[in-house]
Amino acid sequence: MSRERILELRKILKQLSKEYYELDAPTVSDQEYDRYMQELIALEEEYPDMDDPSSPTKKVGGEVLEGFEKVAHKTRMISLANAFNYDDLKAFDERVRKIVPDATYQVELKMDGLAMSLHYEKGILKQAVTRGDGNVGEDVTSNVKTIQSVPLKIPYEGDLEIRGEVIMSKAVFHELNEQRRLQGEDEFANPRNAAAGSIRQLDSSVAKKRKLDAYWYFLMDASALGCHTQSEALTFLDENHIKTNPIRRVCQNIDEAWSFILEMTQKRNDLPYEIDGMVLKVNELDTWNEIGETVKTPKWAIAYKFPAEEVITRLKDIKITVGRTGKITPNAVLEPVRVAGSLVSAATLHNEDMIALKDIRVNDFVVIRKAGDIIPEVVRSLPERRDKESKTYVFPKICPVCASPLVRYPDEAAHYCINQDCPARVSESIIHFASREAMDIDTLGAKRVELFCEKSLLNTVEDIYHLKDKKEELLKLEGFKEKSVEKLLEAIENSKKKPLEDLIFGLGIRQVGKKAAKILAKRFKNMFALMNATYEELTSIKDIGEITAVSIMDYFHLDSNRELVMHLKELGCRMDSDEEEIKESLFTDKTVVLTGSLQLFTRDEAKKLLEGLGANVAGSVSKKTDLVIYGENAGSKLEKALQLNVAVMDEETFMSEVNRIENQ
Ligand code: NAD
Repeated sequence: MSRERILELRKILKQLSKEYYELDAPTVSDQEYDRYMQELIALEEEYPDMDDPSSPTKKVGGEVLEGFEKVAHKTRMISLANAFNYDDLKAFDERVRKIVPDATYQVELKMDGLAMSLHYEKGILKQAVTRGDGNVGEDVTSNVKTIQSVPLKIPYEGDLEIRGEVIMSKAVFHELNEQRRLQGEDEFANPRNAAAGSIRQLDSSVAKKRKLDAYWYFLMDASALGCHTQSEALTFLDENHIKTNPIRRVCQNIDEAWSFILEMTQKRNDLPYEIDGMVLKVNELDTWNEIGETVKTPKWAIAYKFPAEEVITRLKDIKITVGRTGKITPNAVLEPVRVAGSLVSAATLHNEDMIALKDIRVNDFVVIRKAGDIIPEVVRSLPERRDKESKTYVFPKICPVCASPLVRYPDEAAHYCINQDCPARVSESIIHFASREAMDIDTLGAKRVELFCEKSLLNTVEDIYHLKDKKEELLKLEGFKEKSVEKLLEAIENSKKKPLEDLIFGLGIRQVGKKAAKILAKRFKNMFALMNATYEELTSIKDIGEITAVSIMDYFHLDSNRELVMHLKELGCRMDSDEEEIKESLFTDKTVVLTGSLQLFTRDEAKKLLEGLGANVAGSVSKKTDLVIYGENAGSKLEKALQLNVAVMDEETFMSEVNRIENQ
């Protein structure tokens, strides 16, 4: 039985590693993965005859992805052994002290991101490589160069390899997921996966938009550079403008390290980025060789992993929701329970496979986990607490709202309702259309849309503008008085004046988020020009990719969508942009960065002028920058532009150029 379990665990862990490292889309929590791994480690120790060099217990990371150049690491990038409690740390400390009785520890935060190696040659950043499988990684230099905090040049003029973690802050992660949600795209499970997915983009402009950050914690051959301890190595990095995490401490013994861990356990939720634990490293570098390493981990360091906040509650039901794009999501309806500071009564179950994998049944007791800001998840069921109330859940074959057969596309875990007229999709589309980011009808929130749909006052998006003819019916609804109905109708009327870009966004075309809608409005200036745009026209626009172009064409290919636009026009919605025609100039379609203190314009004025001339104004300088306009006291951005041979222009020249264009 245990031997079978070893094989089963290896299979499970291989699949989970693939989802995590290669697809950047884990289906279980890290704690659950770690539990399987610990079980396998214990069983392999018990049954040494089952040894297998390809076991997940001996492997680092995942396969190297296609599409990137493969780079062999000069020194393997290995992982870290894990500790889950004080006793594990004490055992580690005892092993260390047998070899180095007076060891001290450098204790650092364990950033939850993607491990990366950087190579500087003669002080210039030459190469960035992912950990990959530990031996061979992916060359992601152009993507890493888009990270603002990574210096392209450092004071130390020799050759250097450093290692660290590329991360995404919690704020950027939420912003990115919000955008993805608005665009009907799948959200990332957590900042770690979002960072990993962003760094492994073949198009570095995507990585750039993802606003990644990085912290570095390892200096290769630090002793040869005159460092005696890990803390001196980190100071060396600081002195070379390489970002390290300032939250770190040298601890004289394991108890001091443990107090620091307890302190950070309290503070971790307040940090702007996710940490999944703390790393203890023997501080004295000259002892590392003697202490040694295993095939997968050094023996002079250990990662303490924070426990997730988990509670047990009862799963009362599974309810399906149908999204605007038709995506079907099963949700757990929970007996409300307090976890990580908030009351949780619902959690996503993701998809059918997930329910099966975790063997979750209705009326089961389940473990709920909530880490920091992350959406609550059902970690596992507790089969041992099952009673006769427990019922296996049968995933629906038809849409629970419109009864159309559900479709599952190859390689996708989700099911979809593909009926465009499905009432659930319609009401989600109306909610989106009326939302703040779109037509901003603030008196028409989700609850009201659902109520009006239920009462058949709204059956399509355009029905919003027919509500004024249904005043009598509105007044009959509970809670609706003359005044509130008037306010509602007034907000609806006002929305007709919303700019074209908001209307384009409000249509809810897949892949067309706020930014794309703005670009499209600016370029076509008229909804009908956009509706009839060709593939070539769309893909020739900077920042509109092939997938977005196809999605726009697909949308307008449907008669019902074309009719909707016609009707919205008849009902008085703005179909034109009143932006002035963009005059072709040397700024058109160029990426421009402003720096230094401008004397003739405010930053905002200069930005608006440039955008009016068709330029894209960016915040930082890279190889992709076309022009840097500088004012007084311009600093590092101007320097970087000169280093990268990017064209530069002073403010006066910019002013006279603008005047010249305006007088043309
Ligand atoms: P790890 O996360 O246990 O720790 C090693 C890594 O920590 C290093 O490679 C480095 O990248 C990072 N790190 C962060 N801060 C550091 C610091 N200050 N000093 C040194 N290293 C630091 O090991 P791993 O091999 O990267 O990944 C395994 C872990 O990934 C598992 O324990 C699990 O938590 C997670 N995982 C989850 C799934 C899933 O399905 N949820 C699947 C595979 C792996």
